[in-house]
Amino acid sequence: MNNQGRPTRPSGGETTRRGTFTGNRALDMEEALIFETGRLDATGVDLEAPAPFASKLGAHARSAAIGLPGLTEPEAVRHYVRLSRNNYAIDAGLYPLGSCTMKHNPRLNEKMARLPGFADLHPLQPISTVQGALELIDALAQALLTLTGMSAVAMSPKAGAHGELCGMMTIKAALAARGEDKTRTVVLVPDSAHGTNPATAALIGLSVRAVPAEADGVVSAEAVEAALAPDVAAIMLTNPNTCGLFERNIVEIADAVHAAGAYFYCDGANFNAVMGKTRPGDLGVDAMHINLHKTFSTPHGGGGPGAGPVVLSARLAPFAPAPSIVGTGDALSLAEHHEGRQAFGRMSAFHGQMGMFVRALAYILSHGGDGLRQASEDAVLSANYVRASLIDLMSAPFGDRPCMHEALFDDRWLKDTGLTTLDFAKAMIDEGYHPMTVYFPLVVHGAMLIEPTESESKASLDLFIMTLRDLAMGALGGERERFVAAPVHAPRRRLDETRAARQPTLRWAKPTPA
Ligand SMILES: *Cc1c(COP(=O)(O)O)cnc(C)c1O
Repeated sequence: MNNQGRPTRPSGGETTRRGTFTGNRALDMEEALIFETGRLDATGVDLEAPAPFASKLGAHARSAAIGLPGLTEPEAVRHYVRLSRNNYAIDAGLYPLGSCTMKHNPRLNEKMARLPGFADLHPLQPISTVQGALELIDALAQALLTLTGMSAVAMSPKAGAHGELCGMMTIKAALAARGEDKTRTVVLVPDSAHGTNPATAALIGLSVRAVPAEADGVVSAEAVEAALAPDVAAIMLTNPNTCGLFERNIVEIADAVHAAGAYFYCDGANFNAVMGKTRPGDLGVDAMHINLHKTFSTPHGGGGPGAGPVVLSARLAPFAPAPSIVGTGDALSLAEHHEGRQAFGRMSAFHGQMGMFVRALAYILSHGGDGLRQASEDAVLSANYVRASLIDLMSAPFGDRPCMHEALFDDRWLKDTGLTTLDFAKAMIDEGYHPMTVYFPLVVHGAMLIEPTESESKASLDLFIMTLRDLAMGALGGERERFVAAPVHAPRRRLDETRAARQPTLRWAKPTPA
C-alpha cells in the first residue's frame, strides 16, 4: 500500500495470482518500498525550525530536498517488521548453506553481549575504564590459541576475508624482513578454494598459481611440490576443504612448503569440523583465520558483523599487526609497539568486534573443551547422516567416503530429468527450507553443498531428509512443474538473478506520472 492506501503493485499478474484486494495473503503481506510507502514531502517527526545561523558549508550546502520518505513511527516500524518476516533465518528453520556454518546462536551469548559494561563501551574510553573488556579479549585470545596450538593471535580482523588479508599481510611482512618480498610474489591456491583466497592474494599484489586436486578431492604433496618454486610466497589451503574433505596430506604439504622457504596459510573457515580434534599448529600451519561468526555461533548473514581473528605460528608471531594486549591484572593496555615485535601496522582503527568477542567467549565457556569437541563430532555426524540418507537417490562426487561437516552432491543424478541444481534448490523454498549452497565449489558440476551443523535435532534432520527425498523422487519421477515453476509459494517467484547481478538497480527513481 502507498500512503493513499492503494496497492502499489500493478494490478493484474501478481495481485490476481494472490487473489486479494490488498495483495496480502493473511500474514504474508505485500510490502512496498519505503519510498512508495512514505511521502517525500512529509516528515514523521516534529522538529522546531532552527534559529537563524550562518552556514559554514559554503558550496557544499545541500541545494535540493534530501528526498527521504516521511513516515510516522508506527509506519516505519511496520515496514521493517513486515520485511523481516520475508527473511529466512536460522531462527526460522534449518539453514543448510554449505561452507557457512549456519548454526544456532545461543541466547545466553546474546544476554552476555547486552550487559551494559560490554554493550555501552566506547572505543575511545580511557584504557583504565575498559580493563574488563581487555581481559575478555585476552581470555578469548588465549582460548583460540589453546584450540589451535598456535603462538599468537591478531584479534582485530572483522571477517574471514579480512582475516585472510591480515594473515597474508603478516606473511608479506615476514618475507620483507628476510628481504624476499620482491622475489616471492606467487600464492598457490587449489581449484576448490573459496573465492576470497585468490581475491586476497590479488589485493596485496600477489599472483595466483592454481594447484589441481586429485581425483579423490584432496590436494597431494606431489602437486604442491610441482608448483613450488623460489617465487612462491605462500600456499592458501582450506582444511577441511570446500568439498567437505579433510586434506589428509596436509603435514607433507606443510613440510614441502616450509622446505621451499614459503609460508602455509590455512583458510580455517571450516574449523567447526575439527575444533577440539585437530590443532592447526600441529599440522604445520603458519596463519589461519577463524570465523567467530561460523564456528563460535555469533550471528551472521545479515544478522550482524563478523569477526575473523587470525592465529599465527611462532615464525609469524613477531609480525602480527598492532595493537597487542600487554600487562597483567588490572593494568592491561593496548600496545602499539613492544619488545620483539615488528608489527606491519593496524588492520583497523579499533580493536575488533567487541560484541562478537563476548558472544564467542560465552559460547566457548558454556561448552567447555569437551563440549566444543562434541560440537565438531556432532556436526560431522549430522553431515554424514544427511549424506548416507540421500546417497541412494542423489549422486555425490566423493560420496563413497565419509565427509567432514558438509555433504557434497553433484547434478549427475538429474541428467535425464531436464532439471538443474537451481530447479531443485528453488523447489526447497516452497517446502520452507533455505536452499543449500549451489554451484560451489566450482570444481564439482552442479554442486549442492549441505551443511546441517550440530545444532539440528535428529527430528529436524529427519524431516529435512524426508523432504529432500520426496523432492528427489519427484524430480526423478517426472514432476517437472514442481521444479521449473518453483518457488510458487514465496512472496516472489523465480527472479532474474543474472540480470539483477549484471544490471543492479540500486536507486529508487520517482515514477513519472502517466
Ligand atoms: C566463509 C568463508 C570465507 C570468508 O569469510 P567471510 O567472513 O564471509 O569473509 C572464506 N573461506 C571459506 C572457506 C569460507 O567458508
